[in-house]
Amino acid sequence: MVNVNGSPIILQAKRMIDGLHDDAIDYPEILIKNGYIVEVGREGEIKKPPDVMYLDLGDLTILPGYIDAHVHLIGRRSYSPSENFVVPHDLKVIRAVEDCRKLIYAGFTTVRDMGSRIALSLKRGVNEGSIIGPRIIAAGRPISQTGGHGDIHYLPREDVIKKGILLADGPEECRRAVREAIRDGSDVIKIMTSGGVGSEKDAPWHPQFTVEEVRVIVEEAHRVGKLVASHAQGVEGIKIAILGGVDSIEHGYFLNNEVIQMMLDNDVYYVPTLCLVEVYKKSIEEGYDMPPWRLEKQRMCIEAMPKSFLAAYKAGVKIAAGTDYFGAPLREHGYNTDEMITMVKYGMLPMDAIKAGTKVAAECLGLGDKVGTLEPGKYADIVGVQGDPLNDISALREVKFVMKEGVIYKNAIS
Ligand SMILES: [Zn+2]
Repeated sequence: MVNVNGSPIILQAKRMIDGLHDDAIDYPEILIKNGYIVEVGREGEIKKPPDVMYLDLGDLTILPGYIDAHVHLIGRRSYSPSENFVVPHDLKVIRAVEDCRKLIYAGFTTVRDMGSRIALSLKRGVNEGSIIGPRIIAAGRPISQTGGHGDIHYLPREDVIKKGILLADGPEECRRAVREAIRDGSDVIKIMTSGGVGSEKDAPWHPQFTVEEVRVIVEEAHRVGKLVASHAQGVEGIKIAILGGVDSIEHGYFLNNEVIQMMLDNDVYYVPTLCLVEVYKKSIEEGYDMPPWRLEKQRMCIEAMPKSFLAAYKAGVKIAAGTDYFGAPLREHGYNTDEMITMVKYGMLPMDAIKAGTKVAAECLGLGDKVGTLEPGKYADIVGVQGDPLNDISALREVKFVMKEGVIYKNAIS
């Protein structure tokens, strides 16, 4: 980690994808001072401050720091429900700290944690410099109805609450749950308006919460400037979320034209967590130790997810990249570029996939004025990769340089 103590730097590279333009820019220069981008131009265009240092990244392509709009920093290492019983909390924290390190080295300078109490402390640890990791936008405890996706069905109710789920039923309990989350320090409110793949006794097409309940949640969150993200996989749950006023739909595996139109009309972001198609496929092919109810639902999603994603993309829905990785095998932190790569595999243009993981993700998180593009006034969150991701999207994995707020975390230029 190199902190250049306020002296201005001019960063040079072969190519820049700035998150704004539709083409790459050759031989860019970026002037950085006090953690911010001051000026961006082509080679020789920037007026040099007197004490400037040069940092030449050679033939790398530079991009805005990657953003994962949907992670879980919970220190999981298996899909087995037994993790809930046999892994001590402290060990989960240690693993999650390691996951933060992997994320920053993989080029992720911002992540949004969609439900984990640990992430609230990880955020503070990163901010105070005790650990290294991306900037964390944390939902803290997610809000679920009783028996909903967030309720861990095989545990006694009181254990679920102790584990950090806010169970709420009826508008007034929902209002209180939001206030509890805000009291904890949540940056964003995470709710579940449908069942899911990872919950035992419900399914993606089961609606959860009522529109009335969601309206109260959104009202309470928006009053203090917090966005609301809803886990919503099936059509009915997605409708409830949008009619209730949420800001983003997480997963959205089973879309139809009606809900796509609703997302467009209400300016709602879509975080398809598309890379889970590959995860689901592999877990079935390679026979991972997984509960049978989980496998069955994964099979159903594999067919639907790419179709929903492509239909939303073609319709012009704002799509942000989020992996839903939580650390288990096949969902290992550090491989979160999988989402942008999978988006291209299933029909998105490489430039749009890069924007989904930078500019659009930043806007989805409410950070559009701070990160997501390489332009003056934004944090100097910059990634350098070997190769040209517009020709081969897998180049996003070849991260050789990482800077967050002007501090260099990785510099492996040969
Ligand atoms: Zn999730």
